[in-house]
Amino acid sequence: MKNIQNRTIFRDDHDHFRDQVQRFFKDEISPFHAEWERQGVVPKEVWRKAGRLGLLNTMLPAPYGSDGDFGHAAILIEEIARTGASGLGFPLHSDIVAPYIHRYGNSDQKDKWLPKMATGDLIGAIAMTEPDAGSDLKAIRTTARRDGDSYVINGQKTFITNGINSEIVIVVAKTSPDLGAKGISLFVVEEGAPGFSKGRKLEKIGLLAQDTSELYFDDARVPLGNILGEENKGFSYLMHELAQERLVIALRAAMSIEVLLQQTIEYTRDRKAFGQPVLSFQNTKFKLAEAKSQAIMLRVFVDKCIALHMEKKLSPELAAVVKLNATVLQNRLLDEFLQLHGGYGYMNEYQIGRAWIDARVGRIYGGSDEIMKEIISRTL
Ligand SMILES: Cc1cc2nc3c(=O)[nH]c(=O)nc-3n(C[C@H](O)[C@H](O)[C@H](O)COP(=O)(O)OP(=O)(O)OC[C@H]3O[C@@H](n4cnc5c(N)ncnc54)[C@H](O)[C@@H]3O)c2cc1C
Repeated sequence: MKNIQNRTIFRDDHDHFRDQVQRFFKDEISPFHAEWERQGVVPKEVWRKAGRLGLLNTMLPAPYGSDGDFGHAAILIEEIARTGASGLGFPLHSDIVAPYIHRYGNSDQKDKWLPKMATGDLIGAIAMTEPDAGSDLKAIRTTARRDGDSYVINGQKTFITNGINSEIVIVVAKTSPDLGAKGISLFVVEEGAPGFSKGRKLEKIGLLAQDTSELYFDDARVPLGNILGEENKGFSYLMHELAQERLVIALRAAMSIEVLLQQTIEYTRDRKAFGQPVLSFQNTKFKLAEAKSQAIMLRVFVDKCIALHMEKKLSPELAAVVKLNATVLQNRLLDEFLQLHGGYGYMNEYQIGRAWIDARVGRIYGGSDEIMKEIISRTL
């Protein structure tokens, strides 16, 4: 079969970058990831090492990043998926938090925070979700009011990726609570700001090495200069940036399907039952043939979306389409791959078990399946 999914979006510099990322993962990530899963966090030192090698803020121009483009970001995300290093919160830091500061920050803000984010000396998080408001972002209750030369922030956030490690957090808060979505603004809150504290590290079923936490703002004070962009424009900034976040989740799903499909082919080829390889049963061949055909379709579509995004042409609606399809397919196929591993699929010694659990959140965060359908349905 001719490989129509052969990838054309990457250039030579991207291929070199992938080699560099793969070496870093082989030496610095894969041997230690299981231990970080037990600890529930990736040590900050790993972030610093990644930063020194130019693996953070990959798509921002120097000195804010390593002067690459979304192709470089995509490679890092794919290598996380390939190796199952789900504890690394690098994509959220580099491809979600840093771009907000780069796009909406003024030059003082960019100069203050981005070079340190690029070297891994400042770890970033973004806090939108609250205990009573996730999908319905405009229902958040965190407020920020001006008081002299400060904003005073009150509220609570939850499920925040990189929450424990974070040294700067973009916080979504209402500056004009009566205006709903039109009264939301974004603030940068630095670790150590008076009134800001971190809650417990949340116990999750998957992404075990990722430090997800609660954050508290109790009359937290930040200088007026810590607002990102204009007051009350936060919601439109969020809507604009969420397309990239959704593509990031989709690319991860597509790579995870391909890698685990290959592992399942190899496993079922080696594993024998009733005197023959499990791969020789018609059920196995048909399941894997179906999976391969769907993985090819997804690859072509995901790469098309990456290419569109590199040309700044990926619409929010198409980003929702690719996230919805990629994560639903990933969850269905990984469940089938696990089944084909039998009891070994349920053991930690194979990647499939952990990947199956880690995949589940892809249908929830970054906007749930249902919210993706809401967005897509606006185009009907
Ligand atoms: C591991 C993890 C990491 C996360 N990281 C971050 C982070 O770094 N920063 C951050 O801000 N947030 C983060 N989140 C939060 C995540 O974005 C939210 O959990 C998600 O948006 C869903 O919100 P919710 O949990 O409040 O669910 P709810 O909004 O309460 O939804 C519950 C159910 O109702 C459905 N539903 C809601 N509205 C509708 C509707 N209009 N029509 C149909 N069905 C609907 C949902 O799809 C879902 O099935 C993270 C979550 C997890 C689990």
